[in-house]
Parts: sequence; structure tokens; C-alpha cells
Amino acid sequence: MAKKQFKAESKRLLEMMINSIYSQREVFLRELISNASDAIDKIYYKALTDDSLTFDQDSYYIKVTPNKDNRTLTITDTGIGMTKEELETNLGTIAKSGSLSFKNENEIKDGHDIIGQFGVGFYAAFMVADVVTVVSKALGSDEAYKWESTGADGYTLEVVEKETVGTEITLKIKENTEDDQYDEFLEEYRLKEIIKKYSDFIRYPIKMDVKGQRPKADSEENELEEYEEEQTINSMVPIWRKNKSELTDEDYANFYQEKRYGFDKPLKHIHISVDGTIRYNAILYIPETTPFDYYSKEYEKGLELYSNGVLIMNKCADLLPDYFSFVKGMVDSEDLSLNISREMLQHDRQLSLIAKNIGKKIKNELKSLLKNEREKYEKFYKSFGRQIKFGVYNDFGANKDLLQDLLMFHSSKEKKQVTLDEYVSRMPEDQKYIYYATGESIERIDKLPQTELVADKGYEILYFTEDIDEFAIKMIMSYKEKEFKSVSSGDLGIEDEESKKQTEEENNENKELFDYMKNILKDKVKDVRISKRLKNHPVCLTADGEVTIEMEKILNAMPD
Ligand code: ADP
Ligand code: MG
Repeated sequence: MAKKQFKAESKRLLEMMINSIYSQREVFLRELISNASDAIDKIYYKALTDDSLTFDQDSYYIKVTPNKDNRTLTITDTGIGMTKEELETNLGTIAKSGSLSFKNENEIKDGHDIIGQFGVGFYAAFMVADVVTVVSKALGSDEAYKWESTGADGYTLEVVEKETVGTEITLKIKENTEDDQYDEFLEEYRLKEIIKKYSDFIRYPIKMDVKGQRPKADSEENELEEYEEEQTINSMVPIWRKNKSELTDEDYANFYQEKRYGFDKPLKHIHISVDGTIRYNAILYIPETTPFDYYSKEYEKGLELYSNGVLIMNKCADLLPDYFSFVKGMVDSEDLSLNISREMLQHDRQLSLIAKNIGKKIKNELKSLLKNEREKYEKFYKSFGRQIKFGVYNDFGANKDLLQDLLMFHSSKEKKQVTLDEYVSRMPEDQKYIYYATGESIERIDKLPQTELVADKGYEILYFTEDIDEFAIKMIMSYKEKEFKSVSSGDLGIEDEESKKQTEEENNENKELFDYMKNILKDKVKDVRISKRLKNHPVCLTADGEVTIEMEKILNAMPD
């Protein structure tokens, strides 16, 4: 039986496709500029193997020209152009990517720079335009052609005059409606903004004629004159592709500000270039101050994600573990498999490899900050230490080793924050435990009777002043084989056998008195005993079991 072809309402299909893949209209410009960049790349690749072609960087560019009077936006490129057949197959067939075929045909293994692959980006133009006109002259061809479509019922194709090789795409921008605004796509500042946002690192200049005012040269009365000049809008070479040795701290700080990663200054930057089984570049920052919404639900973690210099995602959360959610910055990789809208990723394998790698780098950077730039580390810890503690508490199994070295607590001896490693390394030989005391503030803990005996022994005590501290420590349990012990726990592990016996005897001798006291305090205490831990105070409370007095307070305060 003869097979029948499916029929499709192409106008409806096109509309459905365009509107369902892109979440924002403005990306139409990203798509057209990406195509123009691909077209120039193709000349570049051809020149590599064809001696009659020279690739002179200066003669290749992309130009964006709005015209408010005609309501048109024109994107011109000096790329490879399209023949009549190419116009038909590449623009006349939805989901046909000439760029993908080009990569395959020319066996460009290293052709990561060519962006196109799905054959749908071009049609994004119809999100903002009623009519799209493409005039193109292909490299090596004598004729130029005009392709035109309203996106509805096909397209027309005719011979036209065009001097130079390349492509000129003109969009007739839609009229505003009650619900939808299109005028912005004719505004110079808005177009600049979109170019900067998505296409800043396209390797060829994206030019615009920019109007402005400036002081008249020979005028004494500060007269202004109008001027119009051609400017290159994009930065072209991304800072992350530059050599670290070429860059100064100021360059990194400027990038941080330009990108509005924060309104503060970065405390530290991390520039990563990995070229192995996974390939990516990243510039990460540890901010100096806590963002105002950091410890709230509104805060969104994530890094900017670029695929080959083109922005894909503003905040890719999967790239950062929660305990490093304060890190800002960007990642650029050639190896991501994007979905058709190029807004999301198809498989997260590469991404999770990159994330893992990034996590390690951040940790190492923090460790080296701690070791070599203590003051900076203390600043960092003041802003984000709480998050590290939450990390220890939440992701305990996996990240215990990763994070415990980054913890710091106030020390009774040093009168400042110390690490667990510092504590353990100066423990006297007879000390069995890492002692800690919990309380609202350093001053309050200083006055606790429970600290006396431990301090008297000459042992250092860590002060836990935040709710999370003790919970985090309970997760670690021990550090370098030394267990943690609260100074308010029943058995401090300090008394020797001799004095333990003595205490026991004294307890027995005074049994009657203690029973009497216990009876009076009935529901309030479990036991009344003689204690050896007191010096200047007559009495103190101690905890029995795992939950300390402070933890009990917090647990009781929690809503059920
Ligand atoms: P993709 O870029 O994913 O291939 P598009 O729909 O954006 O898909 O473009 C389809 C094809 O049209 C491209 O692969 C390319 O062959 C061709 N094309 C589009 N724009 C241009 C241009 N400015 N110059 C040359 N060829 C172009
Ligand atoms: Mg494209």
C-alpha cells in the first residue's frame, strides 16, 4: 500500500514550537547573533584548508541596526552566506541545521565553537516579527537571493542584488498590543542590554550605531552636540578564557561588579581552567559580606552557566552544594548537551562532574585561605561560617571530612576562634576529650560554674554560642579520634579512680541529706550528688545522657 505523508498545519506548528521552547522573547536576538557567528566561523574553518581564502579578523563582524521609523531591526553579518538551495533547506525546513551538517561534513572535531545544532533558533525571530526577510550571498557565488516569510504560509524566494558575501536579516517588528510590548526591540539601550546579556562573548565584534551627546569641541559655553558613532557592544574575549597571568585582582573585581554578583567586593576569586575528561572554565567568588537575604528562603543559590560563551542559565543551582551556596560566579563549558531551547541541559552527567570538581576546588581554596590568609578566612567565617556548620549538620555522612576542617570556635585559651586541628594539636597528653561549653555569649559562658574544673586542669574549652554548633558537633562525634564532651556532662573523664572512690563514699555518707533535697526538687532534677568540679560556685546543674541542657532548651523551643 502506498504510504501517505502526514499533513501538518505548519503555521500552527511553528507558533506552537516557538512559543513552547523559549521562555523569554528577547532570546530571538541571541539566536540570530549565534547564527551570524556560526556563519563567520565557517569562513574561518574553510580558510584553514583553502589557500585562496585568507581570514582577516578585521573584516568579519556582525551589525545590529534598529530603525524606529520603519519598525525594522536588521542583523547583518559578513559570514559565509547561503546559496539558493541552502536558503531552501536550512530556512525552509524546520529542524534542519545547516551548521550541524557543516560540522559533520567538514569533520570538524574541534568544532565546539559552532553553536547551531537543532535547526530551530532562526524561527525565534517570529516571536517578535511579522515578516522576516533574509538577503544572502554565499561565498563563491555570483548571485544573491531574498528569502521572505510571514511565518504563516511558507516563504518566497527571488534573485536580488547584493554586493558583498554574507547575510542580512531584517525583522519587521510586531506592533504593540494590549498584552504584549514589542517597541523595546527597537530601542538602542535595550538591544545593547540584550547583546551584553547573552552574546557578550561572541568572538566577533557585534556593532551598533550609537547616538549620544557630547560637549562641542570649540565651544566655550558647554554646548552639546549630537553624534552618532559605530561601537562594538560585546567584550568578545571572555575574561575566563584569558590567561590568569594576564589578569589582575582589579580585573576580577570589575567582572564581579559588572556581573552584579554582589554589591560588595569579592573576598577571594577562584579562576579554574580544566582541560581533561571534562572541560570547563570558571570564575568563582567568595563574597566579603553576607547578602541581606542569605539566610532566608528568598535566597537562590547558583552559578551562571555558559555553553561556549553563550549564556544558557542565570542561576544553575545544580552546580553548587548547599553548604557552598554563598559562592557566586560562572561556568563555561563546551561539553554540555543542551536541550532544544538551549535553556536547559539534557543530561546532567557532565554537569554533576563539573559540580563535583568545583566543590573540591572551593574547599581547597578555603583551606588555603585558612592556612595562608587567616584574617581573610576569619572575615569569611564571620559571614558564612554558619552555613558551613549547617553543611556539617545536614550532609553529615558525605561531607564530614570535607567540612570539619573548616570549622572554627571561640577558645577559652586563645580568646579567639580556633580550628579543631589547632585545638587537638595542643592538647596535653592526659586530656581525653575535646571540651566545649554552650551558652548565649562568650561572656555568659565565661561565668558558667561547669567550666571551672576543666579550665582548672589547664584544658582548653571551645565556646558554642550558636544554636547550630552543638548539633553540628554531635554529627561529627569525634575529631582525630578525640570525642567531644560538654563541660556540663555528668562524667567529665577528668577524675582519677582514687577521687572517684572518695566522691562515692562522700555521696553515701550524705545519702540522707541528698534524698531529702531530691524529694524537695522532685520533678526538677534526676539526682543530687557531690561534685568535684566546683571551685567558686556552691552548686551547678549537669546533664545526664546525650542531650545537653542547651540542646534541650533549643528542642523545647522548636514548634512541634
Ligand atoms: P541552528 O543554528 O541550530 O542550525 P537555526 O534555525 O538557527 O538552527 O538555523 C538553521 C540554519 O540556517 C543554520 O544551521 C545555518 O545553516 C543557516 N543559517 C541561519 N542563519 C544564517 C546566517 N546568518 N548565515 C548563514 N547561514 C545561516
Ligand atoms: Mg542557530
